[in-house]
Amino acid sequence: MSDDTVSRETKTATFSRKMLWKAHDGCTANYPSVRRSRKCGCFYCCQIFDASEVNEDECIDDEEGETAVCPRCGIDSVLADADGYPMTKEFLQAMHDVWF
Ligand SMILES: [Zn+2]
Repeated sequence: MSDDTVSRETKTATFSRKMLWKAHDGCTANYPSVRRSRKCGCFYCCQIFDASEVNEDECIDDEEGETAVCPRCGIDSVLADADGYPMTKEFLQAMHDVWF
């Protein structure tokens, strides 16, 4: 794997409150998205990790579907890049600020 895919985002990321509210939908019943993703991020601990680190056995299973749990902190605050969320620290931090 080459390093070309490493994002070198230098511009200041700003996210609208609306986007951040909407993005919260992405952390429920999201295990199918996680499986389609390369990277996932947790907006509780603000860490970015490989989607493969998310353990299906630890998912929360309810009537809406399987919800991924962060492999780092165990909180169900995981967003998947397959859902179109930017996997950057800035985005996760912005989410954290809104939700925690
Ligand atoms: Zn976490």
